[in-house]
Amino acid sequence: MKYVVIGAVAGGMTAAMKIRRNDDKAEIIVYDKDTDISYSGCSLAYYISGVIDNRKNIVPRDSQYFKKFNVDVKTDHEVLKVDVQNKKVIVKDLKTGNIFEDGFDKLIIATGAHPVIPQIEGIELEGIFVLRNVKDADRIKEFINNNLPKKALIVGGGYIGLEMAEALKVLGMDVCIVEKQKNILPNLDSDMARLVESYLEENGVVIRKGTSVLRFEGDKRVKRAILSDGSKIEADFVLLAVGVRPSTKFLEESGIQLLPNGAIKVDEYMRTNIEGIFAAGDCAAVYFKLNGKTMYVPLGSTANKMGRIAGENATGGSMKFSGVLATSIFKVFDLTVAQTGYTEKMAQEDGIEYEVGHITKPHITTAYPGAEKMTIKALAELSSRKVIGAQIVGTKGVDKRIDVLATAIFAGLTTDDLFQLDLAYAPPFSSAKDPIHYVGMVMS
Ligand code: FAD
Repeated sequence: MKYVVIGAVAGGMTAAMKIRRNDDKAEIIVYDKDTDISYSGCSLAYYISGVIDNRKNIVPRDSQYFKKFNVDVKTDHEVLKVDVQNKKVIVKDLKTGNIFEDGFDKLIIATGAHPVIPQIEGIELEGIFVLRNVKDADRIKEFINNNLPKKALIVGGGYIGLEMAEALKVLGMDVCIVEKQKNILPNLDSDMARLVESYLEENGVVIRKGTSVLRFEGDKRVKRAILSDGSKIEADFVLLAVGVRPSTKFLEESGIQLLPNGAIKVDEYMRTNIEGIFAAGDCAAVYFKLNGKTMYVPLGSTANKMGRIAGENATGGSMKFSGVLATSIFKVFDLTVAQTGYTEKMAQEDGIEYEVGHITKPHITTAYPGAEKMTIKALAELSSRKVIGAQIVGTKGVDKRIDVLATAIFAGLTTDDLFQLDLAYAPPFSSAKDPIHYVGMVMS
């Protein structure tokens, strides 16, 4: 059996390795148009800031590494087309320019996503960057080292923009974030997003909301941005972080079903509409576990699961994906921001009647040194009392609480169950009544 995988990062390499584990005789070929493979995209901001100082730590493996598993990874090879009738891919060797065909029995598409580049006047000026892969990070590092920019403008107040706000501050720049929505972090409820905004402002980050960049100015190199409200922002470094699109343009004529945003439509088994063709990771859509609706959640955590499931099912298995809660977490300076399940906005869109609980409590008992407060906002469905969503902003212990709440939502626990949970306690780790218990108490 011959398997072709397109894309050699989280989704693609997880699928390839699962195929190998299931079938030691399979022929497995992976094509990636990039030179770097199997890297940690999630670490790029820390590589730029220097917190991770060795490139090898974020790109620990190369195609040679996978040879010992008899997986043939061909880097610098772009798949131009998929011919579903004849079960072959048309591939371009980007080093030689040679174009050739390769047949497959099963195909896994894991081509990920690429940053949206808004069509703004002056976008081609030097000093304007996006961040998606290791080469983007290399380019940013080189520009910063050579030009020592002083004033950074980040377009887009999502989590990548915020991680980079920290990185650029660490590198000594003034940082301004422009967000066209009325709050940064538009995926959070605005009351929680405002907590993050205040914290960023206290840490010297300027936030401009409800406005967008009309054009960039400068000769050859960017000098300033003109905003839609008529104001100017001086900037000698710009990061565009306004979202990503699935990398599926090459599939448009293939007959593989794409959703309006370009994401590949897959079922719970990661099957596309064409038999023998699977998709995984940021190139594909997922299901929201709580309503079964299609959602686009481009996250590494999800891409890994989808890749494993695609690999399992391509080799004859029948593993189902339970769907996502869109659980996510990131840090900016010392603040951690996390969410899972429904936000209020999403619950309202689904017509769900819900109750909201807010608590602000220390992450450990206050008698012990280092206690820090966190704010938890939780949502429960009124009729069933099931927990359906949570958002947390705080400096310590947020990761543990969001994972407990994600597990509670996954398992269908109620707010009463939250109070009853038998969680571990000793002063360095939590309090006798943990913040999770308090959520249960205020909502029961
Ligand atoms: P990708 O990583 O995009 O890989 C797809 C590969 O396919 C690429 O190498 C590309 O070159 C290749 N490819 C595309 N088209 C073709 C073609 N036609 N032919 C051949 N090859 C092709 N997620 C989290 O869960 N937590 C985090 O903390 C987090 N932080 C992040 C921070 C940053 C700065 C960034 C950029 C992303 C972050 N993510 C995070 C998201 C995470 O990196 C992605 O969800 C994950 O990389 C998706 O993996 P993937 O394999 O689906 O796609």
